[in-house]
Amino acid sequence: MSVTVKSKRFVDEVIEETPGGHRLRDCIQCGTCGGSCPSGAEMDYTPRKMIALVNAGRREEALSANTMWSCVSCYSCTSRCPHNIPVTDIMYTLKRMAIREGRVKDNDGPALARAFTHYVDKYGRSFEMGLATRYHLLNRPFAAMKMGGMGMAMFLRGRMAFTPSKIRNIGQLQAIINKARELGGAS
Ligand code: SF4
Ligand code: SF4
Repeated sequence: MSVTVKSKRFVDEVIEETPGGHRLRDCIQCGTCGGSCPSGAEMDYTPRKMIALVNAGRREEALSANTMWSCVSCYSCTSRCPHNIPVTDIMYTLKRMAIREGRVKDNDGPALARAFTHYVDKYGRSFEMGLATRYHLLNRPFAAMKMGGMGMAMFLRGRMAFTPSKIRNIGQLQAIINKARELGGAS
């Protein structure tokens, strides 16, 4: 991937938009975040490399990567970073910036995120069977057929339910989500 734009201000923008983001400059490139990341193999750049790109002002590479879209928000990187750098929140910031700048590729991440939020909005939690079905049928119908066997095996082992279950007091969560969307300027 080539660098077409470099911006000295890129790192400042990321810091400004990320709670605790000022610590980003303290990264020592130890690689603990990348070594802890369950999605590293799927990413264009590991979390360590992504932090390096941001610090180097390499906006084009950072915002065009699939890295933040492959992040599953497990917070392993954040909890293990020796300098308390909020790597996970930086991934969220990069997602917002990529969306704002119209750089979101037709990749899996945004589609998966939409399918996930659909179930959280409706039930207050994820519903794996529905998530996999909805996401694959809408975006990767051929892959959906291949995954049918795995889904059935998980169901038989009690690892996946066929119907979603709603949390108690879903209305309260929906009110919180709606308020957050209102404050964040989302529709
Ligand atoms: S764990 Fe922290 S200090 Fe180490 S490379 Fe990752 S962000 Fe940088
Ligand atoms: S929060 Fe995201 S970037 Fe950090 S370890 Fe988990 S998947 Fe990787």
